[in-house]
Amino acid sequence: MSNSIDDLSTAFARLPGIGPRQAKRFVYYLLATPAAERAKLAELIKELGNNVRQCSECLRYFNGTRAEICNYCSDVSRESAQLMIVEKDQDLAAVERAGSYRGRYFVLGGVLTLTGKGAIREKELLKIVEKRLKNGLKEIVLALSATSEGEHTADRVRELLAPYRPPERSGRAGDRLKLSTLGRGLATGSELEYSDAETLREALANRKDA
Ligand SMILES: [Zn+2]
Repeated sequence: MSNSIDDLSTAFARLPGIGPRQAKRFVYYLLATPAAERAKLAELIKELGNNVRQCSECLRYFNGTRAEICNYCSDVSRESAQLMIVEKDQDLAAVERAGSYRGRYFVLGGVLTLTGKGAIREKELLKIVEKRLKNGLKEIVLALSATSEGEHTADRVRELLAPYRPPERSGRAGDRLKLSTLGRGLATGSELEYSDAETLREALANRKDA
């Protein structure tokens, strides 16, 4: 017979930032919770896949059952000359809360660690860059966390985008795709997701060539 306590603990322990002990705490908390509340939680988890879609352009998750692309990607009033690359959906939400960015987005879906772990959506990124270039893309804003992993990931993105950025002396500098990173204000080691709106607005206004 399977062990429900252990099985659910194992499932919780797979969540980001949750260790085995905390996973067990969740399980015992749920055991002490009325059955109706547990059922409600199970239902919410089940429904998640039915009510949320992944945007085929920026790859963020959004509420909706019909549209292929999210409201940011379909909003014609947004600036198509800028494409901001963020690590995850929560970072995108933080930038939106700051309210000063009006361009497009792309969610990388992770970071690369210095030990070679982690994965980012490389193929998808190149696909959207190709597409956006046909629609007037001029600048890519690298909005990754100011951590060593964020910088390592930025290096890889720079490498991927190199073919679109011929050397300045090649004579094609006029249509050279600009690459920038968030500027001063974002303290070293800070994660985008937890940065306050004012800091983000400042970092965005002070972005520098990358
Ligand atoms: Zn989108």
